[in-house]
Amino acid sequence: MKTSWLTRILDFISPRLCVICGERLAPTERSICSACMLQLPRTKFQYAADDNPMVQLFWHLTPIRRAAALVFFEPHSEMAQIIYKLKYAQRPDIGEDMGRLMATEMKYGNFFEGIDALLPVPLERKRQRQRGYNQSEQLAIGISQATELPIISKALSRKRFVQSQTQLNRRERQENVKDIFHLENASLLKNKHVLLIDDICTTGATLIACTNAIKAVEGIRISVLTYGFTKS
Ligand SMILES: [Zn+2]
Repeated sequence: MKTSWLTRILDFISPRLCVICGERLAPTERSICSACMLQLPRTKFQYAADDNPMVQLFWHLTPIRRAAALVFFEPHSEMAQIIYKLKYAQRPDIGEDMGRLMATEMKYGNFFEGIDALLPVPLERKRQRQRGYNQSEQLAIGISQATELPIISKALSRKRFVQSQTQLNRRERQENVKDIFHLENASLLKNKHVLLIDDICTTGATLIACTNAIKAVEGIRISVLTYGFTKS
């Protein structure tokens, strides 16, 4: 990406820092420095998108064509700062930057072949108002910039606030989110291969619930892309 003179001046006045290591960013770097970028624990799932530990979470539960994540996500690790700052530190720009990175690396595995549109997992309305943005949509914006795939944001809604997922086991998580997504407009998804976008996939419960809300749409095919995948 081109670096404007404005970026250079702003960097001089108020240096931008790497969200992982805190080192000063070079004018061409976005959110994370080149050293941290090299060390991201990549899954490489895009090279076996129809048979990998992530897509296996969905087997026998819901029809998913392909699934991939950019990195293995370890909660509380240094690398996890990317997601914590994206979600809780008013840094929607991190989502766009990571979305562009995801898109670039997924392209090498032909992951986007045949995909018609991006479908970010919606946030509950109240939470989106509090945060001011939806982190999954920010990732989708970055992916869209790099792939020119359109984003569908009015097809699906999230109904109610549910208990946090972090303390629950796999079965409890699935039960907790089972009916939280509501299909608002099926015609937007009809005959499309949609790519669900989320920040982290842990048990897959949220993505399974999303898929269950849309899988009956005529002619739909569904694939999944997240920033992180938590190994269980
Ligand atoms: Zn760094």
